[in-house]
Amino acid sequence: MRRSHDGRTDVQAMREELMRSFYRKNRGAFWLTAVCLTLLAGFNLLISWMLQRITDLSMGRDAQPVIAMALGSLAALLAFGAIGMVRRASGSRFLYRAMSQYRDMAFDAISRKGMASFDSENTATYLSALTNDAASVETGLALSAFNLIIQTVTLVGALAMMIAYSPMLTAAGLLLTALPVTVSLLCGGRMARAEQAVSDENERFVATVKDILSGFAVVKSFKAEREIAALFGERNRRLERAKYERKMTQDLIRLISEAASIVAQLGVFLLGAYMAVMGRGITPGVVVVFVQLMGLAVEPVRTLPELLAQRRAAQALLDKLARAACGSRQAQGREVESVLRQGIRLEHVSFGYGPEKRALDDVTILFERGKSYAVVGGSGSGKSTLLALLMGGYDGYEGRIAFDENELREISRDSLYDLVSIIQQNVFVFSSTLRENITMFKDFPQEDVDRAIERAGLLPLIREKGEGYLCGENGRGLSGGERQRVAIARSLLRETPVLLVDEATSALDAQTAYEVTSAILGIENLTRIVVTHRLEESLMKRYDEIIVLRGGRIAERGTYDALMAQKGTFYSLSMLEG
Ligand code: ADP
Ligand code: MG
Repeated sequence: MRRSHDGRTDVQAMREELMRSFYRKNRGAFWLTAVCLTLLAGFNLLISWMLQRITDLSMGRDAQPVIAMALGSLAALLAFGAIGMVRRASGSRFLYRAMSQYRDMAFDAISRKGMASFDSENTATYLSALTNDAASVETGLALSAFNLIIQTVTLVGALAMMIAYSPMLTAAGLLLTALPVTVSLLCGGRMARAEQAVSDENERFVATVKDILSGFAVVKSFKAEREIAALFGERNRRLERAKYERKMTQDLIRLISEAASIVAQLGVFLLGAYMAVMGRGITPGVVVVFVQLMGLAVEPVRTLPELLAQRRAAQALLDKLARAACGSRQAQGREVESVLRQGIRLEHVSFGYGPEKRALDDVTILFERGKSYAVVGGSGSGKSTLLALLMGGYDGYEGRIAFDENELREISRDSLYDLVSIIQQNVFVFSSTLRENITMFKDFPQEDVDRAIERAGLLPLIREKGEGYLCGENGRGLSGGERQRVAIARSLLRETPVLLVDEATSALDAQTAYEVTSAILGIENLTRIVVTHRLEESLMKRYDEIIVLRGGRIAERGTYDALMAQKGTFYSLSMLEG
């Protein structure tokens, strides 16, 4: 595990950061609520005291003090109402700010992860963390903080008053509650485990639903609804089962503590009545207030174990998120200028996704500044992997990759993405306007946007639909070819010195593909690395070098004419294509 300067692990630091997100610029609301809660708890005690006074006064003959007490009660009631209103406002404000800050923080932690982690890890963990887990954290940490305040104040205050009235009765009450309380405290661990199980099952459930919904067309066309329904049902039942177990544990803790409170209250009442009858300095008013105070003191004793268990459970969820957010977090790296002076140099680069097989094997290439490179090869030969490494997607390669003199691993991701952009085979189009999809929600001068649109061959579409056209969920309002052109325009607009292209024209018709590739090859001062399976002579001749990959190794390299003359792999590939 990585440790930061002060010796704490990253996970601990992240957990604390998550906890702090509740209180950022939110302390005012928290403390105001805390003060109100303390006063409100105090009122409960005050009312008990008044009850005792009134009971004992009612045994006397004088009506005057009773009227005074009645007026006093009225004043107390008004104050109670006013403080209650303040508490309501500040408490709700605290909660809504705390929870939205917490979610922002959680999202921020997740988005700090490296690019690679989003295809190698299950995004369901993050979905679950932002939805179901966040709800548990709300009850377990934010709400329970307030509850803890009320309960502690009530417990301490009630105990103090009880001792003042009669130490003997207090001792009896404490003895009566001690045993069941210990039992319910012991259940705390069980509660945390039950909460964890719900979180895990929810994660699996979310993953399944996400999968099923995104693959629904496939499910339909293969008439696999019944099988999928069974899969769904299985996950659904497991989730509900976990929730059931959690509820059972919760109810057990509640049952034990409720039994405790009844036993304690009844015991104290009987003992108090006995002492009053025997004339041991206890008035009927004291017995009444004692029962009342026991009720107040038992409530915290009853709920504290449950609250503490919820807190432990919520902390376990924070840890889970912190661990997920810290694993494969991208390294910091340093800032570099967003210019390429000489080129990109790969020296003996090898890389495998798993331990078994290498996707790239001892690759050494120099991509010179401003030149165009075609990367060709059969499916699975490592072309996309090569581009993924250049985008800083994976740190675990052997050998050296250097942009000018800077080793790729040491370049900060921010700087790297100013140097390199990629047009990918699988395009993601956001459910937003055409323009926002091209600019990626950033501001660009109109002429730059227009140039990118033109180069990407998007002009006819823009003329027809307008820049404000809504693309629909994952761009379903666009054809495959249109989506690809949006992706091309998106990358061209950024005008990075290096452009990587991964079979970006595969969904375009031959004519458009030719025009778009031609446009990409025509841009000045751009270092291009283009993975392609279109091997037309007219385009191929415009590349400075063609690199042929086979099984992760460089099989051949050279200009079009040289490779054709060689009559090797490239020659046979181009015969197949042609
Ligand atoms: P190409 O783009 O040339 O078709 P890739 O670079 O995508 O090939 O894949 C090279 C090899 O690495 C293939 O054997 C493929 O199965 C494997 N591979 C690619 N991506 C992953 C991944 N994310 N996880 C595991 N293996 C992968
Ligand atoms: Mg590929």
